[in-house]
Amino acid sequence: QSAAHASGNKKKTLVILGTGWGSISILKNLDTTLYNVIIVSPRNYFLFTPLLPSCPTGTIEYRSVVEPVRSVAKRRPGEVVYYEAEATDIDAANNKLILTQKLGSDEVKVEGVDTISITLDYDYLVVGVGAQPNTFGIPGVEENSCVLKEISDSRKIRRRFMDCIETAALLPKGSSERARLLHTVVVGGGPTGVEFAAELQDYIDEDIRRWNPEIAEEMKVTIVEGSPNPLSMMNKDLIAYTRETLVKLGIELMTSSRVKEVTDRYVHAIVKQPSGESTWVDVPYGLLVWATGNGTRDIVKKLSTKLPEQKNATRGLLVDDYMRLQGSTNIYALGDCTFTRNPPTAQVAQQEGIYLSKSLETLARVDDLEYQLFSSSFEGAERERAQHNLSREKGSLQPFKYHHMGALAYIGSERAVADLCWAEESFFKNLSKISIGGTFTFFFWKSAYVQMLLSTKTQVLVTMDWIKVALFGRDISRE
Ligand code: FAD
Ligand code: NAD
Repeated sequence: QSAAHASGNKKKTLVILGTGWGSISILKNLDTTLYNVIIVSPRNYFLFTPLLPSCPTGTIEYRSVVEPVRSVAKRRPGEVVYYEAEATDIDAANNKLILTQKLGSDEVKVEGVDTISITLDYDYLVVGVGAQPNTFGIPGVEENSCVLKEISDSRKIRRRFMDCIETAALLPKGSSERARLLHTVVVGGGPTGVEFAAELQDYIDEDIRRWNPEIAEEMKVTIVEGSPNPLSMMNKDLIAYTRETLVKLGIELMTSSRVKEVTDRYVHAIVKQPSGESTWVDVPYGLLVWATGNGTRDIVKKLSTKLPEQKNATRGLLVDDYMRLQGSTNIYALGDCTFTRNPPTAQVAQQEGIYLSKSLETLARVDDLEYQLFSSSFEGAERERAQHNLSREKGSLQPFKYHHMGALAYIGSERAVADLCWAEESFFKNLSKISIGGTFTFFFWKSAYVQMLLSTKTQVLVTMDWIKVALFGRDISRE
């Protein structure tokens, strides 16, 4: 690929950190011939997170929800270089990035080298590193719980769940240890916690009950939520419907219950009673899934300490209306690693990615026009035309505007809830909102997610997974 534009102007280097919703959305929409594009991420694939809660139970196979970054890059018009590495430091003053990567794996070793560190120069940098699960520093959480953020987390949950079942089966019926092992506690009644708990209860009712009815009878799932309601981002009717459905399914809902400490067998929570009084409750568990939302990654914390404009960036990077990092002229940030008025969702990150791809294309054209005006001997009408084009391009840079299309969540037993809206700005805005829950919504949920998947391959794989489960049920073996 040429290192320069047709005008002779050297192409700028655009480095994009991450292969999540935001970064992949940039890659999918950017004219990659305009830059030397480099993607850096420790994960060489995009993960379709909305279907991740379906993975531990085997409703959806891991391979069906991932898309290799190289195959996304291959479909773009220009060359894209990918480095499997983690950005560990950003020198914003000198436009340099430090990448670190452990070479090989436990099985594959490289003689004499363990870790490599590379310095990369950039002209433009996009930070799309997402967030990490937040434990709020609560003692015992990191050592004893599973989170649900990556494919590896899903595998770990599956392994622990199966360990609990098979170990409990060897213990005498009625023993407290057996009951403990068969109890799954999910902390956090946001969409991650609710969707996972619902999938697990379906698995117990539809599959484990078929093959191991005695064990299924004793299994229990509890959601522990700090606020008075699960799915608090939904409207009150959908919250009530969610509560009712979860309880009907047999999931225990402990609301107004804030976990303060975790040991290897118990979750210790403070429960606020309707009287206003608070009591301590110890909940025994076999599997503990921690789903209390997002925390900030180290690279984001490090970057924010380097720029005075980011000194208040405790919950994510601060960006202006153009997604540019406050305090920088050539670093952009998007998605869960930023703190904006928009929620940390895939929907937001994806729209920001589309917006940034168009902004970056405009910046490349502005840069090229400025180069031509400065370096060539444009005269008269030709110069005027170039200047006109330049101001038109600059004027086309508009602030980012998020269009909320609604929220969807699976709540178990083939039911989903949806708070949908469209035409937010129009005269009909009050008519453009709809809140629905039930089986029809479940099919809507399914078709919406299939359409959102990145490729025909994953659309076919996910559909086949659902058909497989409908025909044969889910697998109950360890792996
Ligand atoms: P991510 O998608 O998390 O991607 C971050 C990327 O950065 C990853 O590739 C990561 O490997 C990489 N990275 C991390 N550290 C570094 C580093 N130091 N250097 C370079 N790269 C790095 N949202 C919805 O709108 N609808 C849903 O149904 C939905 N369901 C969800 C279900 C689950 C289980 C979870 C966990 C989240 C869900 N979300 C959903 C939220 C959604 O996934 C996030 O908002 C979205 O992933 C944010 O996109 P992002 O690009 O900012 O970050
Ligand atoms: P969240 O922040 O939405 O919910 C976390 C929940 O944990 C909150 O309700 C909070 O009150 C509770 N909590 C926090 N600390 C607690 C404690 N110590 N004890 C008990 N409860 C505690 O987190 P999430 O569900 O992981 O979602 C993260 C983001 O991803 C959100 O923006 C969400 O909208 C998005 N997401 C969306 C979907 C969907 O649309 N279907 C699915 C998953 C995630």
